[in-house]
Amino acid sequence: MIAIISDIHSNLEALKTVLGDIERRKIDTIYCLGDIVGYGPEPGPCLDLVLERTKMSLCGNHDHAVFFEPVNFNLPAERAAFWTRTTLEEDDDDARRNRRWTFLGGLNPREESGDFLFVHGSPRKPINEYLFPDDIYSAPQKLLANFDRMEQLTCFCGHTHVPGVFVDDPYFETPDEMGDGHRYTIGDEKIIVNVGSVGQPRDRDPRAAYAVLHEDEVEFVRLEYNIDVTAKKIRENPHLDDFLGARLYDGK
Ligand code: ZN
Repeated sequence: MIAIISDIHSNLEALKTVLGDIERRKIDTIYCLGDIVGYGPEPGPCLDLVLERTKMSLCGNHDHAVFFEPVNFNLPAERAAFWTRTTLEEDDDDARRNRRWTFLGGLNPREESGDFLFVHGSPRKPINEYLFPDDIYSAPQKLLANFDRMEQLTCFCGHTHVPGVFVDDPYFETPDEMGDGHRYTIGDEKIIVNVGSVGQPRDRDPRAAYAVLHEDEVEFVRLEYNIDVTAKKIRENPHLDDFLGARLYDGK
């Protein structure tokens, strides 16, 4: 079994809840699909936990923004990225600062393993392209181009913060449509699996999301965590827009 997490966004409460569940299930391999930082109040501790606990971690657009520069960010996201950079840079603990910084700068945009491809955004633009559920109607060519680009049968991604599975009809199946177990059976057709977001879900369900890869099934997991703790830290941080805390309650 492999646990696949993504889009933590410096939300330590949500990350600890997810890691606790993974531990309880005795899963010791964890992959992270990026956006460890950005938006939230605790980038340093989140980087430490991901560094310690994951076997593989990718670069998301927010990780890229903090290390290099924000590209096409709205103002609150850009301010959060610059604050994240400053707070990591101003750490007095030299060893810790260097460890976090080296980790952040060394994240790869994609990884392959057998029949699996792992990216943050999409197969053809691993850091920055969004594959939205609505694209099955409004941009089917974009989805088909991405399926064409895949050499593997299964791609795991994050980025939109909306969990579910794309098939190349194209169609998007939400975890709720998969029945009570929220499990999708991997067959012999290409699929793109979005594992959802640990720290800022946007499917109107505020619970932290991640996925477990079983032998031939993907299980979508949701967990309640203490949103108040994270929202309070966002409100108390003058560099983070209050709305970044408020949105956590709405799951959007
Ligand atoms: Zn993200």
